[in-house]
Amino acid sequence: MPEIKNGDNIVAEEEKPEDKVLDLTLRPRILKEFVGQEKLKRNLEVFMEAARKRAEPTEHILLHGGPGLGKTTLAHIIAHEMGAGIRVTSGPAIERTGDLAAILTNLATGGILFIDECHALNRVIEEILYPAMEEYAIDLVIGKGPSARTLRLDLPRFTLIGATTRPSLLSSPLRDRFGMIYQLNFYQDLDIEKIIARSARILAISLEEKAIKTIARRSRKTPRVANRLLKRVRDLAQVKGQEKVTEKLAKEALDMLEIDELGLTETDRTILKAIIEKFNGGPAGLKAIAATTHQEVQALEDIYEPFLMQLGFINRTPRGRVATAAAYKHLKYNSKLKTQNSKLF
Ligand code: ADP
Repeated sequence: MPEIKNGDNIVAEEEKPEDKVLDLTLRPRILKEFVGQEKLKRNLEVFMEAARKRAEPTEHILLHGGPGLGKTTLAHIIAHEMGAGIRVTSGPAIERTGDLAAILTNLATGGILFIDECHALNRVIEEILYPAMEEYAIDLVIGKGPSARTLRLDLPRFTLIGATTRPSLLSSPLRDRFGMIYQLNFYQDLDIEKIIARSARILAISLEEKAIKTIARRSRKTPRVANRLLKRVRDLAQVKGQEKVTEKLAKEALDMLEIDELGLTETDRTILKAIIEKFNGGPAGLKAIAATTHQEVQALEDIYEPFLMQLGFINRTPRGRVATAAAYKHLKYNSKLKTQNSKLF
């Protein structure tokens, strides 16, 4: 296991029990409280209104986007707005066909089944899901050998909400069965500020306006990271006996976590430095970068690379990842280095 530094603990998906409680406490319950993602919200509103008018469950919905952008939150909001019950599970948790059959047959009519990490469902389970999603029925094989027979069980009409950070890994027959596919994007800084202000109200934390901006700018455009940073800042304020969080204190707390003013953690910087120093600025393959930085390819793909691309620090080319001039500048490298070096090869 790679060593995880303080700030990386916050951005990587290391779920500590206290973080789960924080997620739950701060989770918006209704669509109005869900900040940002305006286009997606407008689409969802129309979509849910139409289903309500028809008095039918909504079509199956696929939500994709990076960790902490609000997929689980949205699934709960949809259930709430549709007045439906929700059952939560995840791709890796469903191991046997019987597990899925038990979940499906226990759903109420109009109920919602939320499957997180649905790209990780195994193929046998997926095959059970196809008729369940299309025809509201499952085919179970009873017995073994020559006496085996298939039993078709009817299911209540339900809505499947699938969430994934890696839509490219979804098989196309599964993807095709979702009526609606929505992508969650990185948030605008202004929206992250609103989320921090809302969370601060709920947690009764008093913050200077500038402190909110400081935290927002370092939150990787991701609500979950914003909430976790807010909590760390509050911790430092409490230790120092300070009632109001000032900009100075917010900066101090975030510097302690080694999160820089654009939200880069130690791992982000290590990745960029590896591309610049070890691969002469790139192109470098993802596996090679993972090996040199002692990171897992999946963490690179899900967490670090999308953010570094969003900041314009990495470009993806057919031959691999390339560090941009902006990355050189941010890490205070002389950007002439790359051209000088490349002449040597
Ligand atoms: P995901 O399922 O995509 O990993 P979650 O739905 O668990 O992300 O969101 C993580 C946390 O971020 C939630 O607890 C919630 O408090 C907060 N959050 C996410 N999206 C929003 C949003 N649009 N507005 C306010 N808070 C949000």
